Parts: sequence; structure tokens; C-alpha cells
Amino acid sequence: MPISTGLNSRTIRIGIILPEDQVRRVSLSWPADLVVASSQDFDDNITDITIEIEGGKFRVNLGSDQVVVDDFMLASGDNLAGLSAEHGVCVDSVVAGRGFHWEKQIQPILPGRLLFSIVDEAILLINELSVESYVACVATSEMGAAAPDALLAAQTIVARCWALASVERKHADLHFDVCNDDCCQRYQGTTYLTNHSLQAAIATENEVLVDDNDAVIDARYSKNCGGIVEDYTTVWGEPPVPYLIPLWDGPNHPEGFAQQDLEPLLAYQDAYCSATRFQDVDLPAMLGKVDETGSYYRWEKAVDKKVILDNLKQYFKHDWAELFEVLVLKRGASGRISHLRLAGENQLGDQVTFDLRSEYDIRRTFSESFLYSSAFVIENAGSLEEDEAVELRGAGWGHGVGMCQMGALGMALDGFASADILSHYYPGTTLKNLTDEIS
Ligand SMILES: [Zn+2]
Ligand SMILES: [Zn+2]
Repeated sequence: MPISTGLNSRTIRIGIILPEDQVRRVSLSWPADLVVASSQDFDDNITDITIEIEGGKFRVNLGSDQVVVDDFMLASGDNLAGLSAEHGVCVDSVVAGRGFHWEKQIQPILPGRLLFSIVDEAILLINELSVESYVACVATSEMGAAAPDALLAAQTIVARCWALASVERKHADLHFDVCNDDCCQRYQGTTYLTNHSLQAAIATENEVLVDDNDAVIDARYSKNCGGIVEDYTTVWGEPPVPYLIPLWDGPNHPEGFAQQDLEPLLAYQDAYCSATRFQDVDLPAMLGKVDETGSYYRWEKAVDKKVILDNLKQYFKHDWAELFEVLVLKRGASGRISHLRLAGENQLGDQVTFDLRSEYDIRRTFSESFLYSSAFVIENAGSLEEDEAVELRGAGWGHGVGMCQMGALGMALDGFASADILSHYYPGTTLKNLTDEIS
């Protein structure tokens, strides 16, 4: 049976500038020695151009020439073996952290084809390149330069599976497969590509995990599970996924899971992702953008009730004057809360309640930015009516489903190979090579 993927081809289309970003002018530049093809002829000595929307069309400024066109394409090579750091075309005006308070402009360097079109009077830029090159770039965004080989190989295979399975399809309406942001997988082209991650992509080229039906698996992952890997259904609902199931992320663990009582989990220090394993480890060098302290496994946070009330108003249009009670109604296997009830008083003095029905909504409501996870206990539940803040004690960072990246690091440091790491986090799956099935 041939291996099946959700993606129709071995190239992937990534949304880089989206209509919602409301960008109408872009500058592009590239090194003089880069071979660049284009839908418009221009002089060999040109190494930068600008594109702007004018009267419903693109005006492309090519040195002293200008052309007016409906769409525009620019391309440089995207062959995996030919890839290197900063190989490609630099694009200004790209948004990262879309919709979050840390939203900012970045200037990624992109290999492959850049396809510009106009949608709703704004620029849509799609980057089309081979899945293998995309995977090399994504693994770099998720890992640090000193990541152990087994971790980097596991992350590379996971990123490849996620892309090829292409289950989420959040952007089908705009005809691209994934966006450049955390909404899908963070992708910044070759901007931070390291030789190390490029070698991992080449060494694992075409390697994927498949399920019982030989379909490439939907390989979810997050930063730190908190001790127990969460069930798919807790975060994304039914139907369940056979290889995204709850499991203790370490040896010698207590019985059962954390749904009812979080304390046995909070006392568990033996997980592969436990902070105790990383005391002498340079975490940022291995995992990229994380704090040196790595206090994600166990954390405490006091959230001002005002922050919660502000978020209730901003995200759910509920204008409350007071918050009296926070009631946990449902937890998943890892203790992540998936249903939580808030009780308080609205501006008219009426007693009101509101239910948050996903870990995502709970995390964005209980923080000025985004709470590490929804696996927490409320320390001052009994005195919340008088207190200014809700005091949380929690576990983990991210949704906790699938591979735990810090746990994978812990396993790699313990000497486990990438295949061991993958079979731990995706039980019942098989490692195969995409080309094996093609005769
Ligand atoms: Zn997306
Ligand atoms: Zn973990």
C-alpha cells in the first residue's frame, strides 16, 4: 500500500503576507550572486525591487523601469542540498505573532517561489517550496543551535509529518497550505537556518511516521507536557486520534492520570521534561527561544482579576464588574482544564456566569499574553471574592498533545535515539521512508 499524505504534492504553499495584514507595499532584495527568476524580465544587476498596489494592480519598480501587472512571481532555488543560511529573497513587511500583543514586523529570507497577488485590495504573498526544504527551515525555528542530534532528527521528522498530513487546513479559502506563524508552524525561511538542522533534514530526508493505514500521521507537538502527555480530544474534540493519547512522560510514575486530582502530578519530578533534568543544561542553546530557568514544568502565577475581566470583555463581549468564583468543570488526562466556569457580577449588579470551553480560551483569558497551560489549580479558590488576583499553580507549556519538545530533549540527553523518542510520543506508529513505496 502506498503511503498517503494530506498534501497533494511534494511542494508546500506557505502564506507569508496575508490580506488581513493590510500590506500594500513590499520591498524585496537579494545578494548579487543569487540566481533569481521572475515573471518580468529585468537587468541582471538589479538586486532589489519594490511592489505596491495602485489602482487595483501591482506597480513593480525594477530599477529605472516600472511595470503594471495583475500578479508577480520571483523565484530562487529551493533544492535542499543547495540550501544555506540566508539563501533567498529578503522580504520586508512580514507580520509575526499575528493577532497577539507581541505582533511585530520581521524581514525573513525566503527560498523558492514568491507568488504575489491582490486579495481584498491587499497583498497576498505565498511562498512555494519543496516540503523537504520547508522542514529544514521549520526545525531551525523550533530548535537551538546546540540541540542534540536525536532531538533535532525527531523534531525534523515531526515537522515533516505535520506538514504532509496537512490535517488542519486553516487557510484553504486563500489557497495555501500553512501560514508562517504559530497559528500553523513558525517559518522564517532560511533566516536562521543552521548547518546542523540542514544536516538533520538531509539525514532524515523522506522519513515519516505512518499509522495502521499507512497514512502520514498528524504529528502534533508542544513545548512541555508537564509530566503527562494530553489526549487529542481534550484540546481539539472528537474523534480521538489513536496515536495522540495520554501517557506519562517518564519512567517510574504514579498510577492513573490527573483528571480528578492534580497533586500527584504536581509532585512528580521524574518526567523527561522535568526542570530537575535541565539544571546544568544550556536550555536556550538547545531549544531556541526559552528562558534559561526553564520553569515551565512547574510554575506559579498570580493573575489580576482585572486582567481576566478585561479579557472577558475583549474576547467574549461580557462586561463584568466583579469576579467571585472560578470553578473547574472538566480536566483532561494531563490536568489541562478544558471547561471552566466563571461567576461574578455584571455592570448592572446581576449575578452572572460564563463558561470557557477550551484550553485555548482559558489560556488567553487568564493572562495578559497567553498562559503557559491550562493545567493548574487555583490556590485561593476559597477567598477569591475578597482577593485582587487569582493565584495559580500549574504544569507545562502548550497544549501538551503529541511530542513534548522538552521531554524529547530530556530523552536525547539520556541517550535515547530519535526512533525511541518518536515511538514514545506517537505509540503504535511506524517509521517509514516515503520513497520506499514508490517503485
Ligand atoms: Zn496558520
Ligand atoms: Zn513532557
